[in-house]
Amino acid sequence: MRNILVVEDSPLVLKILEHLFRKEPSFQPIFCASLDEARVMLETSASLFFAAIVDLNLPDAPDGEIVDLVMGYHLPCIVLSGSYNEQRRDQMLLKGVVDYVLKESQHSYEYAFRLLHRLEGNSQVKILIAEDSEATRHYIRNVLTPHRYQIIDACDGDEALRILREQPDIDLLLVDHSMPGMSGFELVKLLRQKMKRHELIILGLSADTKGSLSAMFIKHGADDFLRKPFCPEELNCRVMSTLERRDLMRALKQAAQFDALTGLNNRRAFYEHGQQLFAQAKAGGRELSVAMIDLDHFKRINDEHGHASGDAALITFARAFSATFPDALLGRLGGEEFAMLSQQDGEALSDALDQLRAQCASLKYATGAPPLSFSAGIHQGAPDDLESALHQADMRLYQAKKAGRGRNCWQ
Ligand code: GH3
Ligand code: MG
Ligand code: MG
Ligand code: MG
Repeated sequence: MRNILVVEDSPLVLKILEHLFRKEPSFQPIFCASLDEARVMLETSASLFFAAIVDLNLPDAPDGEIVDLVMGYHLPCIVLSGSYNEQRRDQMLLKGVVDYVLKESQHSYEYAFRLLHRLEGNSQVKILIAEDSEATRHYIRNVLTPHRYQIIDACDGDEALRILREQPDIDLLLVDHSMPGMSGFELVKLLRQKMKRHELIILGLSADTKGSLSAMFIKHGADDFLRKPFCPEELNCRVMSTLERRDLMRALKQAAQFDALTGLNNRRAFYEHGQQLFAQAKAGGRELSVAMIDLDHFKRINDEHGHASGDAALITFARAFSATFPDALLGRLGGEEFAMLSQQDGEALSDALDQLRAQCASLKYATGAPPLSFSAGIHQGAPDDLESALHQADMRLYQAKKAGRGRNCWQ
């Protein structure tokens, strides 16, 4: 839970903010109605706050004095203003506020919350600025700093390449087009040969007035483009929206690959990776083992202890399963059925499954529920294809069930 200092005197705005904060369980607002109240609050508890949302016009501070107070405590500061004033806006951005939000509509308040959410993650976001002009690098750094990113500078394309090699966890590259040596455009082409969009976001920059350059940047793999000179908000909005797009893409990939309940590979991902491993083993002349695992009398857990207990059993099993086989490919194929692909031989796999079985019997997952038990079928051999190996393992699983459950069958 993060505490947000809200300094606002208008009852209407307070009502809207209260309503929005109720929908945001990760943020706890602390309200102050004047500069004086905020001063006392910060003097005693500044370290408890994550950020501040402040009104520029307060009864005892009509001219934005609240911003200096909050910035004095190095708190990220989001400014709310009732009216748009360009000079005032520039003044605020120069002071280093996160953003200047107009109290216009529900949408602008939601934007303020988007900023809060991004601020939470931004300290983990690394941005590399590749730009030969020191003044521009300095300007960009100043504009991005209030958003709490980690910022790194490079003064040409070669330096940018070296930094990206040394720090592969850089999230976003801001790249100027005209630099001595390699142009920004060439750098983008080179980088996109090995780094996909979800691995590195690229924003092109140029003072060139030709529209074709922005199109060229984007066609060769940049995610967006900014024409210099740009205003601070434009840069921040573009950085923020490309990061949001990247995060959304990552979440979609995650949802498509992993089973939501257990976090294991889902059926599709298991088959996809499994087929690759099979092809590699075949090319290398190696054998693989495949196991099919099914929890015993699982329906009874649901029927007698409730579906939530059934879910807890699946989660508990998956956790122990992953811990026992850290190097194997594991998946939940559906319901209470799991599969594994391993380089261990059948006998070693069977022994490890016996150990897992003993451990599962003593795991507590729901009050009064019976011990977890499973049956397994194992197939070991030269890799033919995944489908038929799984079929062989499934037939042995059936034998294990028929022979009384709670056992492995692999020969
Ligand atoms: P056996 O020992 O022969 O395998 O019997 P079983 O009861 O384990 O097998 P059965 O196929 O009869 O029942 C499986 C049950 O798993 C039926 C289904 O409702 C339940 N199930 C499937 N997916 C989930 C899930 O995600 N959560 C919970 N709680 N139950 C699930
Ligand atoms: Mg330049
Ligand atoms: Mg079962
Ligand atoms: Mg089953």
